[in-house]
Amino acid sequence: MKIICIGRNYADHAAEMKAELPTAPVFFMKPETAILKDKVLYHPSFSQELHYECEIVVKMDKIGKHIAPEFATNYYSQISLGIDFTARDLQSRCKEKGLPWEIAKAFDNSAVVSEHWLPAHEFPLETVNFSFYQNGVLKQQACGKDMLFSIDQILGYVSRFVTLKPGDLIFTGTPSGVGPVAIGDILRGTLARQDMFEITVK
Ligand code: MG
Repeated sequence: MKIICIGRNYADHAAEMKAELPTAPVFFMKPETAILKDKVLYHPSFSQELHYECEIVVKMDKIGKHIAPEFATNYYSQISLGIDFTARDLQSRCKEKGLPWEIAKAFDNSAVVSEHWLPAHEFPLETVNFSFYQNGVLKQQACGKDMLFSIDQILGYVSRFVTLKPGDLIFTGTPSGVGPVAIGDILRGTLARQDMFEITVK
């Protein structure tokens, strides 16, 4: 199982990162060991600037190579919500040197995925809303329709390069409002007004 993450998929987040809008989806991967298996995240000691990025997550049902975007909906049936934890300080240093981002993105427990999945046909990404709260304060809120590249375009693009397999997860990108977490924080996400996760940072 692998995790594909899309970067810069919301214009407002690209702007807050002072990044150019991409002309094709930008993606990177996290390994299976990145999945947080608990409701507690122990703040990693290697970062002084650990950021949350709340994102809609799509689970692959079928093997797919060269997926045609018009048939991409046949390849997934469930959506969920997660956090793409990012060591922003390490990422900034990687970016400055033109180095890959793995140490900032792929570390253990860097991927929160709710255990709660919603049927994609009832909650199409074009209309589904999500919200993210840090200690009860709304920090991120968006609709799937705000994505620069739709999930169907993403699956078409990614599967040109990487074969997608059942169980693979696609993190579809984060809207604006990302920020640092601190020990003691409670991080909560809702998708279509349903509670999806609550994580404590220790
Ligand atoms: Mg992200």
